[in-house]
Amino acid sequence: MSLLSMGRRWLSRIGCECPLCGARVAGARLCQGCATDITGTPPGMQARCRRCALRLPAGAAHCASCLGAPRAYARTIAAFDYAPPADALIRMLKTQLRLSMAPVLARVLADAMLRDGALPTGTVLVPVPASRASLRLRGMNPAGEIARGLAAELGLPLVGDALRRRRETPRQSSLNRQARRRGAVGLFQASAAVAGHHVALVDDVMTTGSTVQAAATALLAAGAASVTVLVVARTP
Ligand SMILES: [Zn+2]
Ligand SMILES: [Zn+2]
Repeated sequence: MSLLSMGRRWLSRIGCECPLCGARVAGARLCQGCATDITGTPPGMQARCRRCALRLPAGAAHCASCLGAPRAYARTIAAFDYAPPADALIRMLKTQLRLSMAPVLARVLADAMLRDGALPTGTVLVPVPASRASLRLRGMNPAGEIARGLAAELGLPLVGDALRRRRETPRQSSLNRQARRRGAVGLFQASAAVAGHHVALVDDVMTTGSTVQAAATALLAAGAASVTVLVVARTP
């Protein structure tokens, strides 16, 4: 083994800790135990709706939320529920601005995708663009950083600027659910770069689904063949 590759191996191991439990890990990742814990189905919870990734109510075969509303996306893959302890991982990236969390989250999401089955051939990754206010606040787009990590992890092409915001909206957290739904309609415009492509739309957290619905609508209007939503965390 050359000195250089020994050095690289050493670098990939040193100082890496599972961000949830602190166990030593090789590289930027969760330890196997934490990854299994947060991505599994908690006791008493049901499987997710394939379309919107909401947990189905006990005994339900269909998702009431999807029956009541048409979706522009064919399905949603979510790595974990936005609930303790895993929600801390999202805050490390979005609130503490730990950029090193992006590849960690991308890896958990890539594993969820691989468990779920392959994406259609010719899929391109498109991140949901940040609002100007959050870009100013963070200096980066968390969804864009996660999409970059996914592109590296899965070897898929990334079209980083395929979507743009047609207008700015008030900060989502200050709005109730209904206002969020209304506010997102017609929010995005997609470029012709997505025409004919299957698009995997990447976001960090999916709450009401109104943002990804607006983004998927714009992508289909620009000629995308289909839209699959990839989110790290789903609000249960
Ligand atoms: Zn751990
Ligand atoms: Zn659903």
